[in-house]
Amino acid sequence: MAGITNIIFVICHLKGYFPATTMRQPKLICLLSLLTMTLLTQCDSPKETDDSSESKEFYTMEDFQAVKKYDAHVHLWKEFDTLFLDQALADNFALVNVSVYSSPTRSPESQDNFSLQLLDKYPKDLAFISTFSLEGFNESDWTEKTLSYLQAAIDKGAVGVKVWKNIGLELKNKDDEFVMIDDKAFEPIVKILIDNNIPLLGHLGEPKNTWLPIEEMTVKGDRDYFSENPKYHMYLHPEYPDYDAQMAARDRLLEINPNLNFVGAHLGSLEWSVDELAKRLDKYPNMSVDLAERISHLQHQAVTNWLGVHDFLVKYQDRIIYGTDLRTSASDITGTTSDEIKNHAHEVWLRHWRFFVTDDEMEVPKVTRKFKGMKLPSSVVDKIYRTNAEKWFPRLNQKPI
Ligand SMILES: [Zn+2]
Repeated sequence: MAGITNIIFVICHLKGYFPATTMRQPKLICLLSLLTMTLLTQCDSPKETDDSSESKEFYTMEDFQAVKKYDAHVHLWKEFDTLFLDQALADNFALVNVSVYSSPTRSPESQDNFSLQLLDKYPKDLAFISTFSLEGFNESDWTEKTLSYLQAAIDKGAVGVKVWKNIGLELKNKDDEFVMIDDKAFEPIVKILIDNNIPLLGHLGEPKNTWLPIEEMTVKGDRDYFSENPKYHMYLHPEYPDYDAQMAARDRLLEINPNLNFVGAHLGSLEWSVDELAKRLDKYPNMSVDLAERISHLQHQAVTNWLGVHDFLVKYQDRIIYGTDLRTSASDITGTTSDEIKNHAHEVWLRHWRFFVTDDEMEVPKVTRKFKGMKLPSSVVDKIYRTNAEKWFPRLNQKPI
């Protein structure tokens, strides 16, 4: 720009556009020249700076492969599922494989052992979150057995421990009452986690939609899922503890354990309102959330409240961890061949990247209306996709991707 200013000045000077008096005063010409250059440079340079910093400040679709990322919530349970891992390597993701105790037929041991086998092969690209069995919960030796299992899992490298919605919606005590997560029985488990600085990943409760009639549910994904799975549709089952009871038990756990690192899976089951979630994050500094299988709920809110969602993601940029809940048994996977499974993961990951880094107008399968991407600054994207996972699961730091 300074060069152009000089040329303009010289042309003006030669053409006599400056008053003759200045022609006779070289020092003044020099000063005017400098002043003109400075003014023009000042007028033009912010635009130049904006243009150049924009390419650094924001990622584009082209940056997807180059940026190192975690998908901090996937489920690989058998050899076939490792297709996701193949695609993750191609797309520059490391995966956190989450064990979950949903029934005695798939034991925590079998899931953790599968993760450990994968870890041997892919030590830099995988980590695992363990869990514990609820079988024999009402027997006197359950606590001792559980603690020794968890200590062994921690010793083998688990980066976290997961609890699932069966606590609150299925498990019952000796008096046939539902057991919630703030039950005294879980205190020794919480203590071992705090002592070892291991976070608790809590999928507690369900989306609020679960307690609503199908026609009042916000996202298409939930309307489809609960139409097909009425046994999980809590609106039809008033005998179970309701949504507020699930949230209240989780909140009490956080309140009485301020030193527990807690990661609320699935946006902490507060997926329906960024404002409600913000209130919990304000109240409980020990809480973060993962995005697994709930990005569609942010997108749904973005249809009518783009700014609210955007500002939430910016304000709580240190508390949000990217994850997808990818699993080959998911209902939204239509294909069965290796290529179809890998393509599914690639498309999900790319679609989310588009949502967070661009301001493209988007349509996605689980949301009925169009919405605009968030176009978050790259510094925020880096936190959501990588550094927050390392911060909230400190053991990931021991083997950075
Ligand atoms: Zn999951």
